[in-house]
Amino acid sequence: MEFIPYGSQWIDDEDINEVINVLKSDWITTGPKLKQFEEGLCNYTGCKHAVGVNSGTSALDIAVGALDLPAGSEVITTPFTFMATSNALLYNNLRPVFADIQKDTRNIDPEAIRSRITPKTKAIIYVDFAGHPCDIEEIREIAEEHDLYLIEDACHALGASYKGKKVGNFADLTVFSFHPVKPITTGEGGAVVTDNSELEEKVRMLQNHGIDRDAVSRYGPDASWAYDMKMLGRNYRLTEIQAALGVSQLKKLDRFIEMRTKIANLYNELLEEIEFIETPSAKNVVVSGWHIYTVLLNGVDRDKFFKYMRENGVGVNVHYIPIYNFTYYRNNFDVCSADFPVTEEVFKRIITLPIFPKMKFSQLQYVIKTIKGFV
Ligand SMILES: *Cc1c(COP(=O)(O)O)cnc(C)c1O
Repeated sequence: MEFIPYGSQWIDDEDINEVINVLKSDWITTGPKLKQFEEGLCNYTGCKHAVGVNSGTSALDIAVGALDLPAGSEVITTPFTFMATSNALLYNNLRPVFADIQKDTRNIDPEAIRSRITPKTKAIIYVDFAGHPCDIEEIREIAEEHDLYLIEDACHALGASYKGKKVGNFADLTVFSFHPVKPITTGEGGAVVTDNSELEEKVRMLQNHGIDRDAVSRYGPDASWAYDMKMLGRNYRLTEIQAALGVSQLKKLDRFIEMRTKIANLYNELLEEIEFIETPSAKNVVVSGWHIYTVLLNGVDRDKFFKYMRENGVGVNVHYIPIYNFTYYRNNFDVCSADFPVTEEVFKRIITLPIFPKMKFSQLQYVIKTIKGFV
């Protein structure tokens, strides 16, 4: 029996040739392909600046770092995400404050954000769950009212849009991931995009040891050896090998999203008659990237259903375990799951079905048939 994964990359010969060309060239890290990839991301999203890095997690870390917030500041975020979102706050000595989600989109609820604001709140990180953009207008209104920075964790949402504008244009900093299950892949990889040139400069420094490229001017015009370290940075650089793959994959992004949308629409149609499945929908102001396809189960034990599907070769998954449930968070933060009734309900009922651009119609039919066979 063939196993159908919940998500998977699509690498073709064109992608492979781009990578081979780099391997045969003089530059294998931080060279012309990286520049081309960053420019490609700017052109695609309409942002002014893009910084390519070695993962979405790294991108989140330095996006938060670039805000330079006082230690102990509070940042409001969703508990219903991959743990990298809130871990980025911990790396930077900031305090994650979770706000509950909305049932239909599983995105952070703007009203819940409001209820979590204190004098120590300095920023919001919102996540476009499954590639469905958040209520960005409402969130921006809150940010303006309370003078908060916004970071958009768009690791699911490259290529999605909100009110006719591509994701990447809404927050102070937007973060993407290029892990194999994400909208496009570079193996591992990520990027930060922004329109703010000061923030871009800090992000660039942070991904390269905190090195200031303008140090030469400080030591005089002849000091070609000079550089300075202005911030505590890391080595989060993206290789040319990865960037070449990124350049090639970016050309296919719109087609990938079209294919994902087609599969999501088919699921919605074919699952409608199954009573124990509550299908997802996209709000009419957004174009979702359909990074994952999640449904809510009605009156069915999720764990039994999960086991049954896996036994029948369908790679279902659970996105996500609420972050406050993890041991590390329980040991270090005083968070009570009762404060997140919607997150708790969704977590109990949610399951991810396979969706990826290369998914065949016969695979989709098999998933539907398998679901129908569950009693
Ligand atoms: C994948 C993901 C990340 C981390 O990205 P990596 O490239 O795997 O480090 C962060 N946030 C969300 C919401 C993600 O889905």
